[in-house]
Amino acid sequence: MVKSITDSAILNNGIKMPWLGFGTFKIDDGSEVEEAVRAALKTGYRSIDTAAAYNNERGVGTAIRDSGIPREDIFLTTKVWNSDQRNERSLAAFEESLDRLGVEYVDLYLVHWPVKGFYQDTWGAMEEIYHSGRAKAIGVSNFMIPHLETILGDYQIVPAVNQVEFHPYLYQKDLLDYCREHEIQLEAWSPLMKGRIIDDPALLSIAEKHHKTPAQVSLRWVLQHQVIAIPKSVHPDRIAENAGVFDFSLSEEEMATLDDLGADGRVGPDPFNFDF
Ligand code: NDP
Repeated sequence: MVKSITDSAILNNGIKMPWLGFGTFKIDDGSEVEEAVRAALKTGYRSIDTAAAYNNERGVGTAIRDSGIPREDIFLTTKVWNSDQRNERSLAAFEESLDRLGVEYVDLYLVHWPVKGFYQDTWGAMEEIYHSGRAKAIGVSNFMIPHLETILGDYQIVPAVNQVEFHPYLYQKDLLDYCREHEIQLEAWSPLMKGRIIDDPALLSIAEKHHKTPAQVSLRWVLQHQVIAIPKSVHPDRIAENAGVFDFSLSEEEMATLDDLGADGRVGPDPFNFDF
């Protein structure tokens, strides 16, 4: 089981990706994101998740460069936004992301959402990007089983990762099983349910037993399902707290209690029904 912040999953093409990463959604470009990423790297995180849509790729790139940590020691993810899929601009959008980040390559490039009628062609462009060597791995985000079936049926490269909403109130077991069967690594966004998990009685009671916080219990639950977690915070104390998940483990019984909390506690958009 995962024992340290640098322990990594091995993706289906052999690339290593840390089990714990740092999320940057809703962190402003400039000093806010630079300080947050700096704090995360200082704490020991070596995986950073951004997206063209977050409008903070410049700051993320600056913080990575300024850290002095060799580029190859950091796992960097970004994503192609929906309007670029609709306008068949995926290849151009990728170049623009590299420019803003100020890097030669990303470790993981994701299709942000399965835009109806467009995500298939986008996957074709992703394959092209992968073959160029400037994305070490390619994957998808917010893809449900029918979306994945289309890609697996019609294209050559199996997505390395599927990044979806996943936390104890949205245990997507069927999707997790499907991804495991097809060697697609599941990655959890909003692993803290956007912060709502922190005063949940069920998590509080388990957390007390381990002298941990509900946030740490939620992250540990994600990791023990062999799912990658990318919590976000702009506060250095919380960034450190969220990394304190390697010195305890949840029992089978505790895992089962959390598994049973919910299947429909979605806090983000529904991948089958979104309008952006
Ligand atoms: P999270 O579940 O990571 O929760 C973040 C919220 O919880 C923030 O409000 C943060 O506040 C608060 N928080 C963080 N740590 C703690 C703590 N220890 N105790 C109490 N509160 C805490 O939500 P996100 O939606 O940000 O998801 C994580 C990442 O996943 C994103 O940042 C992004 O990178 C990715 N993502 C991807 C999506 C996709 O479509 N592919 C969609 C959504 C997210 P504060 O910052 O003030 O500490």
